[in-house]
Amino acid sequence: NSEVNSVTVKSTKITRNFPLCASHLMDGLTSAHHLKYLARKQFSLFLKWIGLSVDEALKFWASEFTQTMGMDKFEKEYKYNFRHDYGLEGSKIKYKPWDCRKILSQPRPHAGEYHGCPYRDLSKDSLKAQLKSMGLKDEEVYGVLEINSKGDPTASCTKVLELKTNGLVNEIVTHPNLYYDRMRVYHK
Ligand code: SF4
Repeated sequence: NSEVNSVTVKSTKITRNFPLCASHLMDGLTSAHHLKYLARKQFSLFLKWIGLSVDEALKFWASEFTQTMGMDKFEKEYKYNFRHDYGLEGSKIKYKPWDCRKILSQPRPHAGEYHGCPYRDLSKDSLKAQLKSMGLKDEEVYGVLEINSKGDPTASCTKVLELKTNGLVNEIVTHPNLYYDRMRVYHK
């Protein structure tokens, strides 16, 4: 009975709580209808932790992937991996979602890849556009870009969380799911 299911996961009610890494993954997935391995892992585990069940996750991923491939191919080549992320295949480990440190320790994304941390990986112009589309005012955008130029992506994300919660949340972002939880509580 989670509020997050294969349909609502794309709704503003849920996505307004996403940190930029998760919004970037969602944008990549819904525009390319596909994500490569690291992006799938990063996003699938994030979504699992915000309450997307395995059945709803499979529906969600299939609804995107099958826009460019048949259901057969999805089932044969991808389903196992998503089930694996939920600990239902292979070694049946209950995988935890990646924290910022783990995300930042993966190989950097090449063109057409969406994993990683946008505060580190996007060009200044793309980041500026993203921050504007998150609803930040011009002076706030410049403030975040100034922080970001110092080279600590989590400090930028921390500032954005503070701005998006009208200064109510002053907590260092170490995990995308922490960001999501704080935003969700703020919007309640
Ligand atoms: Fe995501 Fe962490 Fe980067 Fe924020 S700092 S965008 S939560 S990886």
